[in-house]
Amino acid sequence: MRSHLLNGLTAEHYRRSVTEGVERVAARLATTDRPFTGVTAAALAPRVDAVDLDRPLGDTAAALDELEDVYLRDAVYFHHPRYLAHLNCPVVIPAVLGEAVLCAVNSSLDTWDQSAGGTLIERRLVEWTARRIGLGPAADGVFTSGGTQSNLQALLLAREEAKTGDLARLRILVSEAGHFSVRKSAKLLGLGPDSVVSVPVDHERRMRTAALARELERCARDGLVPMAVVATAGTTDFGSIDPLPEIAGLCDRYGVWLHVDAAYGCGLLVSPTRRALLDGIERADSVTVDYHKSFFQPVSCSAVLVRDAATLRHATYHADYLNPRRMVEERIPNQVDKSLQTTRRFDALKLWLTLRTMGADGIGQLFDEVCGLAREAWRMLAADPRFEVVVAPALSTLVFRHVPAAATDPVETDRANLHARKALFASGDAVVAGTTVGGRHYLKFTLLNPETTPDDIAAVLDLIAGHAEQYLGASLDRAC
Ligand SMILES: *Cc1c(COP(=O)(O)O)cnc(C)c1O
Repeated sequence: MRSHLLNGLTAEHYRRSVTEGVERVAARLATTDRPFTGVTAAALAPRVDAVDLDRPLGDTAAALDELEDVYLRDAVYFHHPRYLAHLNCPVVIPAVLGEAVLCAVNSSLDTWDQSAGGTLIERRLVEWTARRIGLGPAADGVFTSGGTQSNLQALLLAREEAKTGDLARLRILVSEAGHFSVRKSAKLLGLGPDSVVSVPVDHERRMRTAALARELERCARDGLVPMAVVATAGTTDFGSIDPLPEIAGLCDRYGVWLHVDAAYGCGLLVSPTRRALLDGIERADSVTVDYHKSFFQPVSCSAVLVRDAATLRHATYHADYLNPRRMVEERIPNQVDKSLQTTRRFDALKLWLTLRTMGADGIGQLFDEVCGLAREAWRMLAADPRFEVVVAPALSTLVFRHVPAAATDPVETDRANLHARKALFASGDAVVAGTTVGGRHYLKFTLLNPETTPDDIAAVLDLIAGHAEQYLGASLDRAC
């Protein structure tokens, strides 16, 4: 069994095993002609259940053969140009290489004595990101598992900085298009059910600053304590960017912590042409960035940045076995002092190898391409009588729906769109997402693949219209 331990004696076994696995994935990528096979959970579950975990196959090739059957053949492939559903990007090769290196060396970024150079690399990337944002000389931050954790940590710091023992009086203001992790964070932070104040958005799904001003005023009047305003730079459905300069101005005026959730919009930090869309982000107290969304990095790769490094102390706890207080005096860089996690992946390495291989502009160009593609797709949708599109894209998402040629009951239109999405998924020809707008069902494209072409979009729109019309035709038959 020791032959399976990765060490100096098994380097050759390691090379062969990993190469074998890489070959399988490469073969899959080369032959995958659709993003999904359309397999159902009911069809796949028996295959997974049939695996006897107490009877090992003993050999890499056999385990990989089995893996083809239970996973690789039927996985949802984000690299495919007709995967248009969620905020999952195709990944860049330098980052995949980084992933292979980081898991083999297996550094843990909690303490210096478990990571050494890994800690310094992560710190450089935090510094680099903070500089791109413009947070100033006292900035700091830490890599996290994702935007959800980044938002939670930022709001923890904001709660502590609000210096109010009375949690029931604390309020977080976020637009109605903000991310649900803000509500989840409020709950985890012990805030009351009314603690998250939903601020209305304009037609373009950007926070209405006049409404924010009213809510801040109302808090003051009612003796409530606004502990944070969460501005979203790239809402999940619409990609809309809240008016950051105006929001920052209000936060200044009322002395409120400004958190910018740029989980999606962070790709603009490296965009050669669209960086100005983030103007005002430099005034944030904390920022969430998801490199695994718009920097083409594999899951997970994310960070939370703060304007004032000192605020990270709210996440600092000392343990004698790990990071005793004296290490602070000895200036030993222990990232665990800044993190909600203890044992933690060296995700920063992926971004490092990406920047060292392709450069920031390379990533930014890819993100620019998908934003450009979304514009083009919007023109197509707007000109197509079969569809209605809610609003022009701010980044790379489009919310739209099929509208029947003849006026129908709105419930039928909802059903036709729901059906189209499901039928498309079951066919595996393409994958699109769904959401609701004003209580009605819509479809959503999230474009993050520069390999997706306008022809792909046109073909997927035809497929959607086909499924929706088929549903409406069949339901007409049922009615007759
Ligand atoms: C995706 C997303 C999150 C959550 O990030 P995870 O990495 O999925 O945890 C938070 N905010 C916004 C705006 C997002 O789009």
